[in-house]
Amino acid sequence: MAIWHKQVWSPIESAVDNADVVALHRLWRGLSPVPGQLPALSDLALDGPLSPFAARMTVYRPLPDGDYLGHFCGDEFRHDSLSDPTGLRLSQQAPELADFQRSHFDEVAARCLPLYVVHFAHSNPWVLTWERLVMPARGDDGQPWILVFNQPMEARAKLLETVLNCASEGLLALRRVRSAGPESTHWLVTVANLPFATLAGQTDEPAQGRLAHEVFPNWPRLGLDADCLAVVQTRNPRERELELTQDGASRWFKVHIGPLLDGCMVRLTDVTAIKDKEQALHDNARRLQADNEQLRQLAWRDGLTGLLNRRALDVILEREVARSLRLSEPLALVMCDIDHFKAFNDFYGHLIGDDCLREVGQVLSGVIQRATDMVARYGGEEFTLVLPNTVLNGGLDLVQRIQQALHERGLPDATSPEGKLLTLSFGVAEFDPRRDATAHAFLERADSALYRAKHQGRNRVGLAYPQGIQVLESQLSPAG
Ligand code: GH3
Ligand code: MG
Ligand code: MG
Repeated sequence: MAIWHKQVWSPIESAVDNADVVALHRLWRGLSPVPGQLPALSDLALDGPLSPFAARMTVYRPLPDGDYLGHFCGDEFRHDSLSDPTGLRLSQQAPELADFQRSHFDEVAARCLPLYVVHFAHSNPWVLTWERLVMPARGDDGQPWILVFNQPMEARAKLLETVLNCASEGLLALRRVRSAGPESTHWLVTVANLPFATLAGQTDEPAQGRLAHEVFPNWPRLGLDADCLAVVQTRNPRERELELTQDGASRWFKVHIGPLLDGCMVRLTDVTAIKDKEQALHDNARRLQADNEQLRQLAWRDGLTGLLNRRALDVILEREVARSLRLSEPLALVMCDIDHFKAFNDFYGHLIGDDCLREVGQVLSGVIQRATDMVARYGGEEFTLVLPNTVLNGGLDLVQRIQQALHERGLPDATSPEGKLLTLSFGVAEFDPRRDATAHAFLERADSALYRAKHQGRNRVGLAYPQGIQVLESQLSPAG
């Protein structure tokens, strides 16, 4: 049997990608005193530093006649090679392999250096590709003993296969096969992990080495041919999404196709959960848009004053009451009503009355400071202010500022019994979940406070405290 082999003396740690070989070599190098001298065999004990590798180790003792005697053989090596060199001379093994090994053993002993070797060897009924690290060490007898780490490449391939099958993504490697027929490109499967095979509906037979469309019943549904061909021809990767029905449910996959030396690799990632989330966000955005549109169409504004109208107020108040409950934030409400406005209208006429309503509206809008405060015309000559995140006394502050601004504006009212200026009466309440079962009940409490302010003489503020309504007179003279 011809033994193909490659060998690496140095630099093993950067030239070899077998993790065990690299780790062992580093260990040997760490114990090696100076170049040209060997580490002591006792420092490389199989039940000590070498124990992680022992199952794949063999150890040989040099004999005076130039032969080597098998001294130790690990279980896995015995299992893979179907042989056990313990107690046997190297020369008793198959001659070709014996000569091959002896030449390496002699050379590592002479050079005082480890050697990495890859070679084929029959191991009935298979041919295995062996990776070996052959290391010299000084025995108690002063002779160069030989420690060998032996691993079939196939063990690493098996490990990689297991890792690939554990991936959550479907992985497939294809090689392009040209044929003479009209469908001139076929794809030979070189790697297909378990998740891919499951998606592609593969039967029990292994896919490797067979044509994709023959081994995967779902191949046409995956529709990968054109993309794979484009990737192979352009050498540029491609990505797209793919919908597949599995057990009656629709699932989405991101498909990535990248070029390989002589074909391409396909990666399928299940993105159904992300898609569902995106869809939910999209639906939500559309619902919000529809809601907003509806609100706009509700005709939010009062035609005369340009303030929010009663309908808008109802929506806003509901929303703010809900928010106040949710965030445990205070919410104040001010209701105000022009005093003796009937007489005003009778005296000045309805048009001047309308102008007056607009002026009052401007005063109210001019006084509010926060972007979240809202002014609405509740109806007739009544106005409402909704003040989120504001307590009762905050509402009173605002009322006093309105009184001040109104006073400064100095709207004349010749019909007013007290003096010459137009005045307002106010009712202020703070939302109290124990008292106000609904937004409407809250509004009614503010209204009662307003009613009391009117009742006690007008140009006053009724404050709805939990213990009852208190009415404060205006500090400003209604006479101007
Ligand atoms: P009070 O001090 O008790 O509030 O007396 P008042 O006269 O203001 O109250 P009342 O409810 O008796 O009269 C409200 C008046 O407001 C009736 C109406 O002439 C006037 N008014 C209501 N809406 C409008 C409007 O859009 N334009 C005009 N110009 N006047 C209105
Ligand atoms: Mg009124
Ligand atoms: Mg009035």
